[in-house]
Amino acid sequence: MKLYDVVMVGSGAGGGMAIKTLCEAGLKVCCLNAGRLFDPAKDFRDHKQSFDMKYRGFGDPRKRDHYYHIEDEYTQGLWEHEITYTVAPGSKWEWPRCWGVGGKTNFWGRSAARMGDIDFKAASRDGYDVDWPVSYEEIAPYYTRAERMIGVASTVQNRPSNPDGDYLPPMNFRCLDYILQTGCEKCGVPYLPDREAQLTVAHAGHPPCHYCGNCTEGCDTGSFFSTPWFFLPLAEKTGNLDLRTNTYVRHVLVDENGRAKGVAIVDRKTKHEEEVYGKTVVLAASCVETAKIMLNSKSPHWPDGIANSSGQVGRNLCDHLYGTTAYGYLPQLLGQPSFPDNISSAQIAWMPRWQNLNDPREEKYIRGYSVYPTGGCDSFPWYNHQIEGYGAEFKRAIKRYYPTPVSFYCQIPSMRSDTNFVDLDPQVKDVYGVPVARLHFQWGPNELLMWEQAKEVCSRVIEAAGGKVWGTGVDPNTPGYSLHETGTCRMGNDPKKFVTNRFGQTHDVPNLYVTDASLFLSCTDKTTTLSILAFSLRASEHLIEQMRRA
Ligand SMILES: Cc1cc2nc3c(=O)[nH]c(=O)nc-3n(C[C@H](O)[C@H](O)[C@H](O)COP(=O)(O)OP(=O)(O)OC[C@H]3O[C@@H](n4cnc5c(N)ncnc54)[C@H](O)[C@@H]3O)c2cc1C
Ligand code: SF4
Repeated sequence: MKLYDVVMVGSGAGGGMAIKTLCEAGLKVCCLNAGRLFDPAKDFRDHKQSFDMKYRGFGDPRKRDHYYHIEDEYTQGLWEHEITYTVAPGSKWEWPRCWGVGGKTNFWGRSAARMGDIDFKAASRDGYDVDWPVSYEEIAPYYTRAERMIGVASTVQNRPSNPDGDYLPPMNFRCLDYILQTGCEKCGVPYLPDREAQLTVAHAGHPPCHYCGNCTEGCDTGSFFSTPWFFLPLAEKTGNLDLRTNTYVRHVLVDENGRAKGVAIVDRKTKHEEEVYGKTVVLAASCVETAKIMLNSKSPHWPDGIANSSGQVGRNLCDHLYGTTAYGYLPQLLGQPSFPDNISSAQIAWMPRWQNLNDPREEKYIRGYSVYPTGGCDSFPWYNHQIEGYGAEFKRAIKRYYPTPVSFYCQIPSMRSDTNFVDLDPQVKDVYGVPVARLHFQWGPNELLMWEQAKEVCSRVIEAAGGKVWGTGVDPNTPGYSLHETGTCRMGNDPKKFVTNRFGQTHDVPNLYVTDASLFLSCTDKTTTLSILAFSLRASEHLIEQMRRA
């Protein structure tokens, strides 16, 4: 029986950082990954033009109903569909999962801002819920180290809501950014370079971005951070990593004392079931799946799921409310030559939180949100519905409008609620006989107030920039759309109220750690991945220290 130092579940952001850190510290790690290893040359089709694709990039219309919102002909076959989930009556949730090695880091949007004390101490400011068990001062060095590892392009901005970090040169603003920036200035809203984990210069042995676009279909040169390009080669170099692909973890195994002793797996290719043993188990299967694995890990010691004496595993699910707030066009750019300036889905600019900064109850809602502006020439003009006509005249109009459209989407944190959570569906099992995750989720009043305000502010920005508003969003996107879910195994000092301590070590089972966003106390106006990396680094070093002492 082989006994690893660490059995690691998942190789996304939380797993990737842990694998690298643990292997470099000399620990023998077995990483179990539910999907296959992608081959960038074959699987990432981002250099193909839509006219090279059978269905012009949209994918087979007979299958489109089954796609996630981010899935198309370019990424078909790279997203998980075999393992299902259910959504409770009255709830909404879309759960796109990439289970290839590297998880969603293969396709992420790369926006990488630090959280700060305005987030960690938010409850002390406005009285809602609880503070994080860490201060910014404590986590800042881990942010710096994570930023240096992955390379984040941005500028020092001195914003009260957004601590600055250690940055590569920012991406240049485009014409449309300068125009929108003037609109923002008139409305009292910041418009600044985003924090973007996309390499503007060569970094840590990786080549700079060649601005081909379509990063969310995978990068074939590794010019933005993903686990397979950045961390796995370093972990593999140590000789301490066993990576097993197509290996679906069913549950955590426990010994006679209720401590973790490994995991039960099924090989998805052979359907063979077996057990993998380790002195420590680390879960980083992403927020919802980690909770599902823990809830499925029932034993006489843990009848409600492993490390769940608090009853909090799966609770407190949060997400970002996403939606197009306003869209329109900039007449100043009509008829200008078009060129590939959208640099794909890169967040060149952002409008970082400007609400409730001094007084936490200045607005009708508490906390705050951020906004991403988008625009530039795209491979398919999404605004064609706005232009009337047909034939040659229609084509001329499309060309004239080509560089002009702009839109905004908001990043609004949902507030913790007792009614938003994940549990196991008592009626439904997946193809391997494992009870599936059931999602319970609805947007709350605080986030909907922000949504209404964001629509109004973004419309004003377009107009103040001299643009014309075509419309505003009607409904926010379905919950789950942002892929930034948090909170199902929250960390805290009190074992009765929290699943893990402030290092991601579960209170009940000291040799079981969690290193993904399920640890997060609250959803904020910032994206999750940089914080997952920073907290995973900290948790991994805590684990190493514990093992050394043992
Ligand atoms: C299109 C897109 C845009 C995004 N934009 C941004 C952004 O701009 N900024 C940002 O911060 N974040 C963004 N994200 C989110 C970001 O990708 C996630 O926050 C991050 O990848 C989460 O890391 P994770 O380790 O928790 O999970 P994942 O990256 O999802 O990795 C989960 C891992 O667990 C494995 N796994 C799951 N279940 C099992 C199981 N039962 N057994 C074995 N293995 C299992 C999977 O195979 C995978 O390796 C975006 C994501 C997408 C897809
Ligand atoms: S735009 Fe840059 S980071 Fe994105 S896929 Fe192309 S080379 Fe990679």
